[in-house]
Amino acid sequence: MVPDMVLDIVQIGHPVLRAPCHDVPGEELGTPGMQEFVDDLIETKRAANGAGIAAPQVGKPWRMFIVEVRDNPRYPYKPHAELTVCVNPRITFLTPDRYLNYEGCLSIPDLRGQVPRCPHIRLQALDRFGVPFEREIKGITAGTFQHEYDHLEGILFPDRADPRTFCTWKEFAERYQAGVEKAVRQVVDQWGE
Ligand code: ZN
Repeated sequence: MVPDMVLDIVQIGHPVLRAPCHDVPGEELGTPGMQEFVDDLIETKRAANGAGIAAPQVGKPWRMFIVEVRDNPRYPYKPHAELTVCVNPRITFLTPDRYLNYEGCLSIPDLRGQVPRCPHIRLQALDRFGVPFEREIKGITAGTFQHEYDHLEGILFPDRADPRTFCTWKEFAERYQAGVEKAVRQVVDQWGE
């Protein structure tokens, strides 16, 4: 049994964050090497207190990401989301509605910005063992999945944000967090997550 490893998270400017990723072949998913990688990706996300992490963020151009939100010091106001490993995912928007999500990214130090996200999506993906699954996801959690999915297309949140909303984490905590917590509660009330 190999102990889980915390991997290095690549930062904005690294080309792997800008290239579309390629599908993970189903037969590769079952291999011990790939299962170890999934464990390491989970460990890396938890060590960095991310809401999610995508494979390109640790230098692998593969269509795979993880979402998990428990009590998170980076996002204390986010609703919990169970650990979900998504391989070769597809996302379909189920409503024309959008809400504004204040996002940050483990690959972009000290920057947050407001991104319009769809509050009701269908996710179709393989799990870590290659078994297909499908889920409808709503609200704030749906925004987290869209952020991670964007990584697989080489898209980073500032590409979708209004640059006038950019702020450091310190300015966010001092000026915007209280307002965002209120907005998040409204999204949760309306969409249930
Ligand atoms: Zn990110």
